[in-house]
Amino acid sequence: MAADSVAIIGAGLGGLTCAIALRRRGLAVDVYEAAERIEETGAGLTLGLGAQHVFRALGVQGAVAAKACPAGNLPFLHYGTGKALMGALDLGDGLGDDGSANIIRHIYRADLQKVLLAELGRLGGATHTGHRLTRFEQTEDTATALFDNGFSASARALIGADGVRSAIRAKLVPGDAPRFTDHVAYRFLVPMDRAKPFMDLGRSAIFIGPQRTFNRYTMAQGRIVNGAALVETGEEVPEGWSTPAPLEELQAAFEGWHPDVTGLIGEAGAIIKWGLYDRAPLGTWSQGRVTMLGDAAHAMLPFLGMGAAMAIEDGYVLAQMIARHSDVASAFAGYEKRRIPRTSQVHHASKVQGQITQSIDPDNFALAGAPVNNREMMEFDPTAEFT
Ligand SMILES: Cc1cc2nc3c(=O)[nH]c(=O)nc-3n(C[C@H](O)[C@H](O)[C@H](O)COP(=O)(O)OP(=O)(O)OC[C@H]3O[C@@H](n4cnc5c(N)ncnc54)[C@H](O)[C@@H]3O)c2cc1C
Repeated sequence: MAADSVAIIGAGLGGLTCAIALRRRGLAVDVYEAAERIEETGAGLTLGLGAQHVFRALGVQGAVAAKACPAGNLPFLHYGTGKALMGALDLGDGLGDDGSANIIRHIYRADLQKVLLAELGRLGGATHTGHRLTRFEQTEDTATALFDNGFSASARALIGADGVRSAIRAKLVPGDAPRFTDHVAYRFLVPMDRAKPFMDLGRSAIFIGPQRTFNRYTMAQGRIVNGAALVETGEEVPEGWSTPAPLEELQAAFEGWHPDVTGLIGEAGAIIKWGLYDRAPLGTWSQGRVTMLGDAAHAMLPFLGMGAAMAIEDGYVLAQMIARHSDVASAFAGYEKRRIPRTSQVHHASKVQGQITQSIDPDNFALAGAPVNNREMMEFDPTAEFT
């Protein structure tokens, strides 16, 4: 790679978005991904409004929306009775649309990643799989990434988009580690034909109750229902796809909940138990020619469904700053100024949202003051300044 290129470590949603945004500004970029093959499996994603503003600015919103399901009002339902506590039931057909409406959408991660990879390829950005960064070095003029396959790459800027266990962060902030949040997520999929009897309360719904949240929605053009059950627990398990969970364990956790919840759980295919970790917010993400974005910088609890949106927003803004400033220090300063306050706010709000929905007495429910109703935060457009 050319030394005036930008090197991004990690081909997740944040890394790919940043790479596309850099290419659109005419800059050379190389993405290095540890996995041998890029294949996001088995999960869906709520696409926040900020992420979709970014996709519009990058010209991919139409392709994303065609693969996604529009999500009405994302209603919060009582865990036992199914009564709508906030928002109206989402009774739409859930088919993809043209993406112009400013609404939340749900998408299969694999579909989103395919759209982004195709766009990056079309724009001439290079993605190198099988490259796990082990360390980096830097001088005044260049940063060099070193990989476990013996390859090394020098660049004018090095971006750690390498997720919650970021190797870049390990070196930038020695001794800092992901923090277990006393929550696990059970993740599973159900084909629509088997889920249908349990979907009368609409395509997307978040059932809330003491110490538990059950979020389910259709994706993949209405063919698959994504189930994500969040449970407060002291049992620490790793994040990722490596810990299968027995059906009985998930059934026991949601015993006594609404029949649509227990019924859908009964139809679950493979169930994965995923430990939820966050990262402590930092006052700076950068050192010299190296910076971070997404979960590497600010992994958060998923109660607002905005972690990936923050990675996508970061990637877009960082690319604009790199394109605007020829010196990396000014670019990173502008990036941090815009992104640290925003992501710190959402990081904190995600935790508060979980505390409210999981600790209150749902029979005296009052969601009005919950962060999800903070319109300024939820509807923020990170592209407004640049378009
Ligand atoms: C249960 C659950 C539900 C969630 N739901 C939502 C939701 O609905 N909406 C939402 O917006 N967010 C959601 N999130 C959060 C979201 O998944 C993350 O915030 C998002 O994936 C972060 O993107 P990223 O690009 O920063 O990192 P990642 O997606 O983690 O990507 C990092 C990439 O870097 C690669 N990598 C790692 N180490 C190295 C290395 N050393 N060298 C090279 N490559 C490396 C990895 O293989 C990976 O491809 C949820 C999270 C969980 C756990």
